[in-house]
Amino acid sequence: MRPLWWKIVDTSGAAISLTVMIELKDVTRRFGTTVALDRISLTIEEGSFTSLLGPSGCGKSTTLRIIAGLDQPSEGDVVFAGRSVTGMTAAERNIAMVFQSYALYPHMSVRQNITLPLAMREMSRWERTVLLDRLLPSARRKSAELADKVHAVAAMLHIEALLDRKPNALSGGQKQRAAVARALVRDPVAFLLDEPLSNLDAALRVQMRSELTDLHRRTGRTFIYVTHDQAEAMSMSDRIAVIMQGRIVQVGRPPEIYEQPATREVAAFIGDHPINFLEVSATAGPLPPPFDAFALDVAEAGRRIVVGLRPEGLRPAADGPLIGRIERLEYLGSQAVATVALGGGYSVRAVLPTESGVAAVGEAVRLGFDAGRVRLFDAGSGERLAAGLVPLASGAVRPARRTTR
Ligand code: ATP
Repeated sequence: MRPLWWKIVDTSGAAISLTVMIELKDVTRRFGTTVALDRISLTIEEGSFTSLLGPSGCGKSTTLRIIAGLDQPSEGDVVFAGRSVTGMTAAERNIAMVFQSYALYPHMSVRQNITLPLAMREMSRWERTVLLDRLLPSARRKSAELADKVHAVAAMLHIEALLDRKPNALSGGQKQRAAVARALVRDPVAFLLDEPLSNLDAALRVQMRSELTDLHRRTGRTFIYVTHDQAEAMSMSDRIAVIMQGRIVQVGRPPEIYEQPATREVAAFIGDHPINFLEVSATAGPLPPPFDAFALDVAEAGRRIVVGLRPEGLRPAADGPLIGRIERLEYLGSQAVATVALGGGYSVRAVLPTESGVAAVGEAVRLGFDAGRVRLFDAGSGERLAAGLVPLASGAVRPARRTTR
């Protein structure tokens, strides 16, 4: 069977799209009794940078392997550009994948590693034979074309000077670039990356993030990026699909995921500092301490709710509603993370600026926050509630609505 990219042409034979929309429709993958993916549906827009984000074992790699054609769903369909590709091999789908381990051949030079997938696709067995390569005009022509493509992609990734080295003579970042070059040289319709930065040190990881997003911009290809690192997903992606226990729990742009997390688990997973959760019983009037300066704007009386306060959303304020004492302090330079005991068994972590001096353990503090950025969750289901906090001092509580979402 010819690869799918071959067929994405208009009637004159000219290629009309080298990138495709990818859809997963009710995809389930079982391994024996383990349900790795449970009816996953996802649309990945062509040319987008989409991250699959979630904790270890949630099903990210399985999703990527199913998109690539390296694994098949137990049920459901994989669709490229409106056509089912379920059952097609990885080669037929023309998808490129970069693995965490890079998977470079150690006995081959970087040039050979990059050339191999192209030669396998574009040259016959005879043309690939070293001796005939010199004699056959078609092989000579194709070899020259391949060399040009390899150089172009090596230049794009700044590894031209490394083409004759073997992988064991490369640094982690250079290996990573060589692996990306090898994937890119085939001109794939989509580019799948499975935790490609996790073997690099922190500084190089940050540098490679911007190199990959730059590459995405320059190639215009669909990138699907698997990571458990929320900072990577937040900083690189157009859209994030958060996967937990084999299910997609939320899909959205990074600010949506941060500001409007669908569940308590998503809220806990996103953000540089772990979000504070404080559980209280909802009441018709003022909430119980430490939120007694607030009421809910939606009728939730009697419900156990979890108040989500981001540490970076708390700030020292002379009239702040949260009054407590600093129990622990982690100094980070421009900021310090304080653990503040509020009484009643509650405590919160707050990111405090250090420019006007560092607070000390044992010091009393008052903390304020923007009530509009507080997120409330149902204590039982973990789902985010439509309810919000209304400061009592700032005016009347809006009439109670009956919605809960
Ligand atoms: P990580 O971030 O740790 O790589 P992940 O989110 O990529 O994890 P997957 O590798 O997709 O998770 O695995 C999802 C679930 O499926 C896990 O429970 C895993 O143990 C299981 N699983 C994956 N592959 C197989 C397999 N070949 N045989 C049996 N179980 C498997």
